[in-house]
Amino acid sequence: MTSVLAVGSMALDSVETPFGKRDDVLGGSAAYFATAASFLTETRLVAVVGADYPEEALNFLRDRGVKVEGVTRAAGPTFRWRGRYGFDLNDAKTLETQLNVFANFEPVLPKSYLDSEILFLGNIHPQLQSRVLKQATHARLIAADTMNLWISTERAALLNTLKGVHLLFVNDGEARQLSGEHHIVKAARAIQSMGPHTVVIKRGEYGAMLFQGDHVFAAPAFPLPALFDPTGAGDSFAGGFLGRLARADAKSRLDARTLRQAVALGGVMASFTCEAFSFDRLRTLTRQELAHRYGELQRLTVFEDLPSELLTDSAQKASA
Ligand code: AMP
Repeated sequence: MTSVLAVGSMALDSVETPFGKRDDVLGGSAAYFATAASFLTETRLVAVVGADYPEEALNFLRDRGVKVEGVTRAAGPTFRWRGRYGFDLNDAKTLETQLNVFANFEPVLPKSYLDSEILFLGNIHPQLQSRVLKQATHARLIAADTMNLWISTERAALLNTLKGVHLLFVNDGEARQLSGEHHIVKAARAIQSMGPHTVVIKRGEYGAMLFQGDHVFAAPAFPLPALFDPTGAGDSFAGGFLGRLARADAKSRLDARTLRQAVALGGVMASFTCEAFSFDRLRTLTRQELAHRYGELQRLTVFEDLPSELLTDSAQKASA
């Protein structure tokens, strides 16, 4: 089984949605990614936490088989993010970011991680992403995520990182901001010309689109009856997606078939994350539940061939 190496944030989040509010709950791009990917494969984490980060959370990751040798505990408080969502849950408003121990984070890959073939550069400063990329000499598939903050404040560094990235995950707002194109297909094509041959555009409740070369695939989001907190949905998507790729052999990893399954599984994983605040739903999630919802999503999107006579010229004449 191929393991995935992930770098990103480990955070204490304070989140407000129309359905409730939580303070200092577990969050961070790397933590969501690793938890989601751990349903499929081994994940090796590189991140920094502060003195106040609960040991219980690290044990939770260890129990899920996540390798945390690359997680450093530094003196000082953990990175904190405070955000709010309105009824449009696709749009997170950042109210406050406290870098804390993240300010001096210098990611160093432990020797035991160096043979990792798949690398996920989670949402951190693009220069840090580049430094990880340089160390991950065995990585054959390099995937990355980013956010509006870096697109607007660190554009040059981000464009430099993207040159070395094969697969980029962005939401539609980020895709438009990064490309300067409003039309989503044009935005994807423009991003492909920046480096990544594959671009996945997450569209919240509207699903996700994948662009690989000329191949396009779209999957709807699973229609959840209730949704509480979308924080971490993007990283859970990436965890499910790359987890699926990690279970394919290197030759078929980027086949259209594997990629389509990855989009669907990523979306299913993200849907569970949204069902509760923080990691609450992922803590109880089982593989059986994932498999069941994957099947439900599959059935939701199947439609049959039209009757052969329906749109033929002769049928039109006959009904006239
Ligand atoms: P998403 O999957 O896009 O919803 O990512 C949510 C996570 O991103 C939250 O748990 C935050 O802790 C984390 N986050 C927010 N802003 C930043 C940032 N500037 N750097 C790193 N991580 C961040």
